[in-house]
Amino acid sequence: MQYPKPILDLVSSYMKLPGIGKKTAIRLAFHTLKMKDKDIEEFSASLINLKKNLCRCTICGRLNEKQVCDICSDPNRDNSLICVVESDQDLIAMENMEGYNGLYHVLNGVISPMNGVGPADINLKSLFNRAKNLEIKEIILATNSSPEGEGTASFISKILKNTDIKVTRIAQGISFGSDIEYADEVTLSRAISGRFEL
Ligand SMILES: [Zn+2]
Repeated sequence: MQYPKPILDLVSSYMKLPGIGKKTAIRLAFHTLKMKDKDIEEFSASLINLKKNLCRCTICGRLNEKQVCDICSDPNRDNSLICVVESDQDLIAMENMEGYNGLYHVLNGVISPMNGVGPADINLKSLFNRAKNLEIKEIILATNSSPEGEGTASFISKILKNTDIKVTRIAQGISFGSDIEYADEVTLSRAISGRFEL
């Protein structure tokens, strides 16, 4: 006995989400069926608008609704400092810490030879272009402490070695393998203030 096709279609969509197996997907589909029409409309509209209304900032690569994001266009930011992060989630974690007032660069990934991700596959070229700007005095590498995060940090520091820019790495206050995204504010703040030159 099979579920009706509209249910099965929704189940297979839910199953595309991480951590959602068939049982959970069926439960979610039946839950959706019980939702008010208005809530379902809002839900589907937000799914459609997610990609339609978002773009990456042409300077830092951050996901937002404008060509140049609020951080890059903020005159009160310290534009001599760039903090390099792996993801938009890591950027938000850094911002919530509230101790950092420089700029960012979102790599949108890490170099991972095992997964076939090379330097050209992540947002690195624009970082090296930004590094030509004489106003930049320091680049903080805040990639995660995973092997890929470390590898990416050392790749960037090698490329920037012969420039006048000070390249620093955040301190390992964040335990090995844990994500910056999930680090608490005190740990993150310590990791930034304890950064060391590469
Ligand atoms: Zn930006």
